[in-house]
Amino acid sequence: MRPVVDEEKCIGCGNCAEICPSVFQLIDDKSRVIDPDACDFAECCEAAAENCPQEAITLVEE
Ligand code: SF4
Repeated sequence: MRPVVDEEKCIGCGNCAEICPSVFQLIDDKSRVIDPDACDFAECCEAAAENCPQEAITLVEE
């Protein structure tokens, strides 16, 4: 699965980067996906998406 962050929705709370730092990082107060391939083995992607207060993270099936 490939994570996609909706930058319009993201408020930069940092939850995703805290839960899943190998995939998400906060840059300029927005979450960026630094390694989309990591979600193939990192279960934290799902947890990050579930804990986003803005529902800004979508996991796209490839
Ligand atoms: S958890 Fe959601 S709102 Fe918070 S930084 Fe990540 S994408 Fe943005």
